[in-house]
Amino acid sequence: MTSGIASRLMWSAYTLAHAAMESRIPWEDPDSLVRRQNRRLRRIIGFAWERVPFYRDAMEKRGLRPDDFRTAADLHLLPLIDGHVYGGNPHLFQPTGAGRGAGLTLQSSGTSGRTKHLRHDSRSLYLALAHGHRQRRVLAQFTGRVTGYRELNLVRDGSVASQIRSFYEQHLWTPRRADLTRAFLTPGELPLEAEINRINEFRPDVLMGYGSYLGALFRAAQQRGLEIRPPKAIVYGADAMPALDRAYLESGLGIPVLSTYQSTEALRIGFQCERRAGLHLSIDAVAVRIAGPEGRTAGPGEAGDVIISNLTNHATVLLNYRIGDVAVNAAGPCPCGRTLPVIGSLEGRCDDIIHLADGRSLHALQVMRRLRSASGVERLQVVQFGHGRYSIRAAGDAPNGRQAATSALVAELSALTGCRPSVTVDWVEALPAGANGKTRLVISELRK
Ligand SMILES: [Zn+2]
Repeated sequence: MTSGIASRLMWSAYTLAHAAMESRIPWEDPDSLVRRQNRRLRRIIGFAWERVPFYRDAMEKRGLRPDDFRTAADLHLLPLIDGHVYGGNPHLFQPTGAGRGAGLTLQSSGTSGRTKHLRHDSRSLYLALAHGHRQRRVLAQFTGRVTGYRELNLVRDGSVASQIRSFYEQHLWTPRRADLTRAFLTPGELPLEAEINRINEFRPDVLMGYGSYLGALFRAAQQRGLEIRPPKAIVYGADAMPALDRAYLESGLGIPVLSTYQSTEALRIGFQCERRAGLHLSIDAVAVRIAGPEGRTAGPGEAGDVIISNLTNHATVLLNYRIGDVAVNAAGPCPCGRTLPVIGSLEGRCDDIIHLADGRSLHALQVMRRLRSASGVERLQVVQFGHGRYSIRAAGDAPNGRQAATSALVAELSALTGCRPSVTVDWVEALPAGANGKTRLVISELRK
């Protein structure tokens, strides 16, 4: 559904007005940033009390009133929730009554289970777009411009990023000169050479994608003697980039690599600045706490669970929510001068990744492309039981026979992992599906 012209113009003006403030907000004095956060916090707490059943009930049971919440430090008075609590009763986190307006229900096919549905109201989506200018201004130091550069997104078709992008295209009117030239390409779908040709034809200034995939892509190109036209910057999110890959891209190829921290629950949580050390947190939109052992807030340099509270989305209210990521608290402020606080690093999730004993990791898409191409078998699933211990499940036809395919799969996985793994290949009628009916490409039973 597309919006009428009046609505498009109104929301475009709203977004541009907020984006215009982005040259200032990241450097604002810390007290005024905290005041911004507190204003949004009090607004959403009041709304949750009035309209959101889960929070009304939780606050009543604890004898709490909206006035008890003055700063983000008070959010821990609410119950600690996570994806299971939300997924069990999503309607309890949505407001009662009318007035939710347009907006977008994001669908994320979590690799670990069922599909997650999460509704965002229009205003929070436009604010996230405006907050994206925090990162665009960082990228401008590499691309030379805030608008008009070419951005290629190597993300799965139907990914959260592409759902949000099509919402903006249907509901906003962005003047050509204020926008980027964007394209989307599903990673690992085409043979390597064809994928690289598509990238080179598009000539991206900025290449965006999964941390675990992008480094692997450039390495694979190098091994095959193929050249990827170097972008001016690489931006990754969704999962961590192995340190070796980052070093190869930055030192070996001279491409600056920056990361972002985004999630279906809170959209833009943080971004990396030109110093490329920690991640600056957008605390005016999302309150973030790193909870160390026994739930207390982690000290400098300490790792812990990331707990977020989305302060802008009134269509699904999630406060004091354990997002499932592990991060290290920063040791101090970032030398770039931005006052938005930093977390030291994000350790990421383990989904969809094979972790190797030498510290490298392989993305499922990269593994699949190589195994499919070597064996001619399309339907495959790799299970990692431990370092050097794998099982491959294969289903369907093998053009050169199952015996040849089995040998090819074992040889290719050995080449990929760079060791002599123990691999068993099981031919099955159908690949087992997860709870959501989807079949995962890679299952790692190994914890990092
Ligand atoms: Zn910085």
